[in-house]
Amino acid sequence: MAANLKLVRRALIVPPLAADTAQEEVVKFRGSLGVFGKAGTGKTSTLVRAALSRMESGQDPNSVLIITYGRESASIIRDQIAIGAKSTATNPLARTFHSLAFSILNEKLSPEDPMYILVSGAEQDAFISEMLESGFDKSQWHVDLALAKSTKGFVREVRDLILRGTELGLTPEDLKRLAHEMNEPYWSGAADFWASYADVMNLRSMSVGETVIRIDPSAIIVEAIYRLKSSPELLKKYRSMFSTILVDEFQESDKSQRELLALIAPEDTVLFVDSSSAVGRFRGADPDSVDRYIREKTKVQIDLDFQHRIQSERIEDAVKLASHAEAAHYIAHELKRAYLHDGLPWSKMAVLVRNPGLQVSALQRAFAQNGIPLNVDAGALALADNPAVRPILDIANFALRPHLLTPGNWERIESVLLSEFCGADALELRQIRVKLAKERIDGSSKTTTEMALELIEDPTISIDSEFRVFARLRDLLAAARKASRGDVSDVLWAIWDSSMDYNGAKISTLWRERALNGGNKGALADRDIDSVIQLFESARRFAERAPGARATTFIDQLFEERILSDAIFSKAQRENVVSLLTVHSAKGLEWDFVALAGVQEGAWPNLKERGSLLGSERLVEAERTGLRSPSEIAASTSYGLIKDERRLFNVARTRAKSRFFVTAVQAEDLQPSRFFDEIFEELYGISADEGDHAKSERSLTSQALISELRRTLESSDEAGKEFATKLLKSLSSEGFSAANPETWLGARALSSDALVVPAEESVYVSPSGLQSFEDCGLKWFLEKNGARDGDSTAQLLGTAIHALARMAAEDSTLTLDGAVEKLTQSWSIVDQNVGWFKDAQLGEARAMLERFFDWHRDNEREILAVEAPFKIEVGRAIVSGSVDRLESDGSALHVVDLKTGASATTKKDALEHKQLAAYQLAIMEGGFTSVSPITKSGGAELLFVGGDRGDAALRIQPTVEREIISAQIESAAEGMGSNEFTATLNKNCRTCAVKLICPLQANGRSVIE
Ligand code: SF4
Repeated sequence: MAANLKLVRRALIVPPLAADTAQEEVVKFRGSLGVFGKAGTGKTSTLVRAALSRMESGQDPNSVLIITYGRESASIIRDQIAIGAKSTATNPLARTFHSLAFSILNEKLSPEDPMYILVSGAEQDAFISEMLESGFDKSQWHVDLALAKSTKGFVREVRDLILRGTELGLTPEDLKRLAHEMNEPYWSGAADFWASYADVMNLRSMSVGETVIRIDPSAIIVEAIYRLKSSPELLKKYRSMFSTILVDEFQESDKSQRELLALIAPEDTVLFVDSSSAVGRFRGADPDSVDRYIREKTKVQIDLDFQHRIQSERIEDAVKLASHAEAAHYIAHELKRAYLHDGLPWSKMAVLVRNPGLQVSALQRAFAQNGIPLNVDAGALALADNPAVRPILDIANFALRPHLLTPGNWERIESVLLSEFCGADALELRQIRVKLAKERIDGSSKTTTEMALELIEDPTISIDSEFRVFARLRDLLAAARKASRGDVSDVLWAIWDSSMDYNGAKISTLWRERALNGGNKGALADRDIDSVIQLFESARRFAERAPGARATTFIDQLFEERILSDAIFSKAQRENVVSLLTVHSAKGLEWDFVALAGVQEGAWPNLKERGSLLGSERLVEAERTGLRSPSEIAASTSYGLIKDERRLFNVARTRAKSRFFVTAVQAEDLQPSRFFDEIFEELYGISADEGDHAKSERSLTSQALISELRRTLESSDEAGKEFATKLLKSLSSEGFSAANPETWLGARALSSDALVVPAEESVYVSPSGLQSFEDCGLKWFLEKNGARDGDSTAQLLGTAIHALARMAAEDSTLTLDGAVEKLTQSWSIVDQNVGWFKDAQLGEARAMLERFFDWHRDNEREILAVEAPFKIEVGRAIVSGSVDRLESDGSALHVVDLKTGASATTKKDALEHKQLAAYQLAIMEGGFTSVSPITKSGGAELLFVGGDRGDAALRIQPTVEREIISAQIESAAEGMGSNEFTATLNKNCRTCAVKLICPLQANGRSVIE
């Protein structure tokens, strides 16, 4: 049935009408105007009103251009004007300088005009790195840089220097001149490199096709200026295109942006500025002189001094916590409280961070646990750090660079094994190590990590089910390698498409289903799918822009990329979610409630000089100030840096309209920042050091509340218990199923208390089951009813040794060598491993046969039968089975039971061994009269041929008393047919297959209690 869908426009809040005279003046003014105003004075809403006012008075919306600082704020301004305006524009009304310049470059005045393609920062890094490595680079680099040149940090410094130089409108020749004037030892080589880089960029553009030009972000504006200046036709077109230009956040503009503006600015140009919130000085912004610039370049200036965010109504707080995880939970709790108690929508809240990093992961975890929808801005989380994307990149990296599969990289390999793509858990990996340690051949110096890597790497080794996690990784590596002839998208797709869980369901399908099911898990799956889509989008663009480039170059780019530098990628808009973003991305935006996380000393203020080796910041400072003396420039730079950081902090603090709080961690190696101290002291009158750590409270989720109520029920607080009972009852009746005791594990009534075997029926008992039942009734019952693994290699080996032992008894001509040969020939049935693993197993099997043949040769009794079946009745019990060897000494029968396990039963335990005793009773009860008329038992023996020993170990049980054993078997049969099975700790618990659900073990207890 077709769904009836209707498109509805998202509700947006139109900014209020200008409320004070200064704003009114700005809105009405037409002409060259400078507007000063600090955060909270309503600059942006006045700008929007000014644009709307022009449109309302009949001006064509396409003739109004708004230039702003970031893509996000441009999009918000566009939305606000779209809602408020009566007519619509066909061109984007609000844009960034870069977007404007990009459209100037791609303006086609004739069919021959080239098309410009933007090169991302990470791609530039890869390109510079390839040039530095290739030998093509003939630059006269300073000798000091010989070692540094191969590092990624150096590549970034080179890019930064070229970027800043281009933005400042300099040429390589200018840089060479400045190197001399400023006595900068490294700039001369950098200038050589810059010149070659520009040549190669041009060549690359032509090789793609003469109509395509690759351009890096720094060159867009300079290139657009050049194009406007060299094409009178284009300049005329742009000059007449806009009758009004309104520029927001003008304090962030650099020299070239101002030049571009000057070229196309009409008379009606309004510049809005707040020098106290400039954050881009290191990129060329000039907050110190911007106010003067405005006064000089505009005819009229207006101060918006009316503070719209009335400070007294704003609540501020500073909270000190003991760890990043605590801080993340505290923030999640406060936001959830605002949502639940104050009815504040999620979209009106934001969390800001200074830099992407660990705290972002902690926040994501805390928000997921608290059921808070979160949208992490690309800038706050590098794509390669994304938990959904990282394993795919790691697998691709290991597939394409097998030399990285080394013990030194085990931590990374292990994180892949623990991801959903391989599906192991920490316990499983520990157990695998134990197994590998046991399977190590004597004298081998291999570590278990090396053995694990061999299993992962060598495709000729077949992998046991116990090591299935390695098989999954190996399959994914193989799929990636197979696809490596294509481009990077093919490699990543092969991994994604081949990723399955243990049941063979594709991870992609599982995530999709989870996302569609909603809830917390659904939100997480949704986020993960978004990230994977983003990864494929980046890979596709990489392959398009750099045809033929190595897939590893893309992977390296992502690993290195701390802030996603792609300006074109548009992320999906999500409604009603909390935003998590960096302070830089938050500039120009505002929310009702803002939390600023992790204001730590060392991180903020960040006084590390940007580009300290090649000194791009010195270049910017020299051009900005005209200074040439290194010491003066250094002093000016560091003074500017602390001012920048304080301005940035001020930007963060002023993003909140009604509530703002800042968190910092104080722990052994972490101290709150001086900015945090200042706010703390301002609020509480004491230093942050003297203040107490805050504690995060219980999560405001139904699960957390129900858990607390359940804990109260266990306490001795009678009033609390009564209250908890009532509340649980109410919650349960409101549909919270977790509050209903009937759903609690371990609290459900027994589904049946019927006897396993009705009282009047016989109980079938196997001799081996008798021993197992005696050891632990619960284990016996669960294993008998399906709780056991399929045959392992060890079990198959045991079967093979038993078969050969039978042949040796039946065929006296079979020698040890003959038996070993038979075993070797049929080994592939027993064990499908190859390589060292197969050698180890086969060597062990050969040793077992040797021990058996030695014992068999010296055994003087007559063999009457091998694998002789029997069946006897003992009260309710029907005991049946077969004995490995039935032997006679002439007057009595003896049973020998062959064991291939590694450890032997003690001599003392053998005396009480129930399996042997049952065999002896079978002799006495005439169970073997078809083989021999003798019904006298001479005793029974366990023959251990496995393990690490020289000769076979024999454990003897002398003749048992018939009545005693009969009574024991009858009693065991009653127990086996009953309705209660008791767990009994014993020496086999360590290897018990059902201990995860055993109430006597830690893991099992948590299931039951
Ligand atoms: S762990 Fe020990 S006590 Fe528990 S079921 Fe297994 S054998 Fe029995």
